[in-house]
Amino acid sequence: MGKPQASGHDILQWSELLARHSEPAWAERGQLTVTYLTPAHIHTARELTALMQASGFDEVSTDAVGNVVGMYRGSQPEARTLLTGSHYDTVRNGGKYDGRLGILVPVACVRNLSNAGRRLPFNIEVVGFAEEEGQRFRATFLGSGALTGAFDPQWLDQQDADGVTMREAMQQAGLPAEWSAIAALRREPSRYQGFVEVHIEQGPVLCEGKLPLGVVTSINAGVRCTCRIVGLAGHAGTTPMRMRQDALLAAAEISLMAEQRALDDADSVATVGQMQVPGGSINVIPGECLFTLDMRAPTNAQRDALVNDISARAHAIAARRQVSFEWTEVMRASAAPSDPSWQARWARAVTAIGQPVYALNSGAGHDAMMLHTIMPQAMLFVRGGNRGISHNPLETITADDATLATQAFAALLDDIEARP
Ligand SMILES: [Zn+2]
Repeated sequence: MGKPQASGHDILQWSELLARHSEPAWAERGQLTVTYLTPAHIHTARELTALMQASGFDEVSTDAVGNVVGMYRGSQPEARTLLTGSHYDTVRNGGKYDGRLGILVPVACVRNLSNAGRRLPFNIEVVGFAEEEGQRFRATFLGSGALTGAFDPQWLDQQDADGVTMREAMQQAGLPAEWSAIAALRREPSRYQGFVEVHIEQGPVLCEGKLPLGVVTSINAGVRCTCRIVGLAGHAGTTPMRMRQDALLAAAEISLMAEQRALDDADSVATVGQMQVPGGSINVIPGECLFTLDMRAPTNAQRDALVNDISARAHAIAARRQVSFEWTEVMRASAAPSDPSWQARWARAVTAIGQPVYALNSGAGHDAMMLHTIMPQAMLFVRGGNRGISHNPLETITADDATLATQAFAALLDDIEARP
């Protein structure tokens, strides 16, 4: 009799173990917050390390940016390694599965391989990325970015809200805090087959469709802008409606236009997440309005068309309303389409475990976007409960779905073995 197979129940239990570590102000309220290199973060890394060691990994280490790296050696040392993993940091008051699921699913698979005394003809490298969410410092994706050469040495001088630099935080955490050690983390793509990432969907599509798993086709391209409209402040009682240059109403019309333009595409999204009237009053026509626009689409071309249309129409609305309009681009990220052969591997893996293959694009950014810059990648999404809510303590998955994700990952490993 062998040891029992690690399954979704184990993954839920491990998630609870990891979730015991939360920053004190949030832990008091029963909330989960784990930001980069805080004591809760360091304890989470230790918990992950212990879990990987107990699961039969041959080597487990923490690297110079705090990534927890587990290696399960294959039978052919010269074969290229499969890279997988996701992040273990969280947003403030976040969920237990965002990121962590993508570490725990491959850990469960390695545990099963190890218990069975089985070696695959390739190495499996599982990385718990230290940082993806950009909560403590402005830098984001710094865990996966360290592997791809995207870690900017100037980030070491960034300060958190308390004035602690990243370098100081690294020193306090016992990391080398030296650029040379971080630069050395860059992976040589020729040593790798590719990167796969399992992640909770963070959206309602799989839940609404009653589908446990989804194969990701692309991670959306995005552009973010800050916008400023200047009209003319005036008396709310004496200025006739036809003679107004209301900055807020121009922003409102632009918001509704952006909504409609995104709706005209099947899968574009546009969001006005912040809007303010600086110094506004109840009896004053808004003279100035500041707002943000976040626009995303599955391909760069579709994103560019969306952004160009919204910009042109916004300028036209501003001109008609006789207000000035400034648009400042603050972020532009390229789409990360899944590698077709790796997407096909996931589809075969999902089919092999008797589940329907449902393809969807990812509206959220993921570590796979970073790895995409140096190697082929494809992601598998797992259904979230509560209509897929995420970045929220209501985020949830079922043990059954976690089991299916583990079986799909095991089927993917078999697929790589069968079709190298
Ligand atoms: Zn995530």
